[in-house]
Amino acid sequence: SWGQARNDLIKAVGKNNFVTWIEPLRLIGLEGGIARFEAPTKFMRDWVSRNFAEQIRTHLSLAGKAVDRIEFLVASTRPVPIAQIADRPTRTRTALAAARVADEPELPGAPLDSRFTFDTFVVGKPNELAHAAARRVAEGGPTTFNPLFLYGGVGLGKTHLMHAIAHELRTRRPELRVLYLSAEQFMYRFIQALREKQVMDFKEMFRAVDVLMVDDVQFIAGKDSTQEEFFHTFNALVDQNKQIVISADRAPGEIKDLEERIKSRLQCGLVVDLHPTDYELRLGILQQKAEAYRAQHGNLKMADGILEFLAHRITTNVRVLEGALTRLFAFASLVGREITLDLAQDCLADILRASERKITIEEIQRKVAEHYNIRLSDMIGPKRVRTIARPRQIAMYLAKNMTTRSLPEIGRRFGGRDHTTIMHGVRKIEELKASDNQLDEDLKLLRRLLEA
Ligand code: ADP
Ligand code: MG
Repeated sequence: SWGQARNDLIKAVGKNNFVTWIEPLRLIGLEGGIARFEAPTKFMRDWVSRNFAEQIRTHLSLAGKAVDRIEFLVASTRPVPIAQIADRPTRTRTALAAARVADEPELPGAPLDSRFTFDTFVVGKPNELAHAAARRVAEGGPTTFNPLFLYGGVGLGKTHLMHAIAHELRTRRPELRVLYLSAEQFMYRFIQALREKQVMDFKEMFRAVDVLMVDDVQFIAGKDSTQEEFFHTFNALVDQNKQIVISADRAPGEIKDLEERIKSRLQCGLVVDLHPTDYELRLGILQQKAEAYRAQHGNLKMADGILEFLAHRITTNVRVLEGALTRLFAFASLVGREITLDLAQDCLADILRASERKITIEEIQRKVAEHYNIRLSDMIGPKRVRTIARPRQIAMYLAKNMTTRSLPEIGRRFGGRDHTTIMHGVRKIEELKASDNQLDEDLKLLRRLLEA
């Protein structure tokens, strides 16, 4: 049955792919050797039919349902998701904007980015909790987590998830008054109300919403009257059992200059963080963006391994990752050539350089000392016994190869040794590693540990 096939597919395609692409499918018919599935959007339908149809067919057959053919349809019962409007190349920007405006209720909220939906949010280990919590809130059921507090570093998807909640609620529960805005906009509105002596209107307006989402709440820290007003709005809504979603760049307890009572209020619901991305998630996001690009612009000639290369090298945040990909596509379409690794390295040199993790000599010394079980102080000390001198040379070798420091600089950090001593150490290790397998393995391991 489909239930069985789904279970097998989790293993076959991996959890990320499963959650993102297969789980949202609905089996709507299975007869005459034809299985019909409904996908939430056209984009997803195209992706799934291109990438997973064969595996779905195989696993359905293995689960006892002989299937010759699979058809994917786009769910028609659901109102057109905003994501689809963006996908449709025939729409002009103004038409898009108009669609968005028509979609907005008369609330002082910020416009929603039509690309930030659950469909386009790639789920991985680092964000799965936040994603699950956001999904739950977006179902619009009873307020189980109130407030939902999402936090995490820049570019990890907080705003994306909040917009996704808003989009989803507007589709599922159009009767709800959903208000999304940044803390900065909240402050701006409040100050404007003060100036125009319309504070009562302001209060009424905010207290009439069903779902309030305030992005980047750390912004109001230290802004006393805004904090005060936020606190009252917050309490009034919670008392009426209205859903609140808040984001910030750090945990409630860690926001400086935020009143204690607000901190404790923010903590009383569900607090979840978005962790820094891992390789798998970054690759998933890149694959999705590349596919979206293909869906819109047609063919894209890209050598194998480019996305893997980017996912490996650009670890800072998703926004930078996206920027890199966008630039690469633009460049490739301009020069009309296949995207090769060389081209990518050329075109993204600045981004790659900026996101290089700077490994310090100190870190190298610590890791090497740990690995060979010697004291950190021996790294810079004078002892010459082999059991200490050799690891020290290894650290010198790694310092030379993994940092951009010059030999004299390295010498200074090894207890003021001369640059010729460092050079000697580096050469010694180069020489040894050519014949000593164990040493070679050790060096690889240390590099991996340091690069992690
Ligand atoms: P934050 O608000 O946490 O600073 P954003 O939500 O603005 O981050 O995300 C930055 C960019 O990265 C956006 O374009 C967003 O769509 C993208 N992004 C972040 N996380 C994901 C994800 N898991 N899947 C797809 N895109 C993502
Ligand atoms: Mg944001």
